[in-house]
Amino acid sequence: MSKQSRPIYSLVVPIYNEEAVLPLLLHRLDRLLEALDGPAEVIFVDDGSRDCSPIVLAARARDNPSYRYIRLSRNFGHQVAITAGMDRASGDAVIVMDADLQDPPELVLEMVAKWREGYEIVYAQRLSREGEGRFKKATADLFYRLLDRLASVEIPRNVGDFRLIDRKVLAAFSTMREKDRFVRGMFAWMGFKQTAVTFHRQPRAAGETKYPLRKMLRLAANGIVSFSDAPLRLALWVGMAVSALAMLYAACVVVMWFTQAHLVPGWSSTVVITALLSGINMMMTGIMGLYVGRIHNEVKGRPLYLVDQRVGFEDGAEAMAA
Ligand code: UDP
Ligand code: MG
Repeated sequence: MSKQSRPIYSLVVPIYNEEAVLPLLLHRLDRLLEALDGPAEVIFVDDGSRDCSPIVLAARARDNPSYRYIRLSRNFGHQVAITAGMDRASGDAVIVMDADLQDPPELVLEMVAKWREGYEIVYAQRLSREGEGRFKKATADLFYRLLDRLASVEIPRNVGDFRLIDRKVLAAFSTMREKDRFVRGMFAWMGFKQTAVTFHRQPRAAGETKYPLRKMLRLAANGIVSFSDAPLRLALWVGMAVSALAMLYAACVVVMWFTQAHLVPGWSSTVVITALLSGINMMMTGIMGLYVGRIHNEVKGRPLYLVDQRVGFEDGAEAMAA
């Protein structure tokens, strides 16, 4: 079978040790491809899996012209993996979805309908989350609230990375090469015509979460630092408030010095003030460090990822670096 003409739809699916869910995923994707109203490609981005996922997916990309497979040279993380897939998407509409079927492939048809209506970004909004622990739900809720408060752009709540974007948006996205990525925020920042479709999020179809607390915290920190300078401003306000208090205290001491005969300057208060001020100082330095760290990260100018292997692409190159 020859390669089909340029696809209308590109589905980008990040994969990190997902062998348990692959048979079901491939089945559901096949069904989705049949249901779509035009030619589609599925791009699997293997984010450095160490299980059998690479073998299964590369085989699928070889056998079936609708499937493609890219392997990153190591685990770069979910946000970079989806970027790598989007970079290689050639469809008019690009859909990003998780491998574990928590993002139901059938919802893509609804997204496509919205896209046909003229929307350029269609994101999937969760009405509920099942099969996820209380802790995950509570922390996610807290994070979205905080982000809502702090972010300089409006980032929709309960929206993950499951979304459809138009080719035009993809072109804009490709120009944003920041290293510490919070992709859902980047789309919110971009604007264009956006809308939501809603769904009830099911538990993972198989396997375990690839987002341990450590990765979740990193994502949350990226989201807040990338889209808000509130922490910096907080340091400024706290610093000013503390200085004001210190001056007030100094005034009190002067008054006491004039009014009280035997004023013994207690060294404890001195110690308290010194400690407080150096604490505040340290906090501000810490916050500056956060931002300086990011500048450092950008200045390094490394590519976002390296590609180890490609299968099933038009140019037929099996191994090349991006
Ligand atoms: N994933 C990835 N790289 C990672 C972690 C996750 O490509 O370092 C993929 C994973 O295979 C899945 C998606 O990102 O397709 C979402 O991960 P997961 O379902 O484990 O996250 P959760 O739904 O638990 O937040
Ligand atoms: Mg999941």
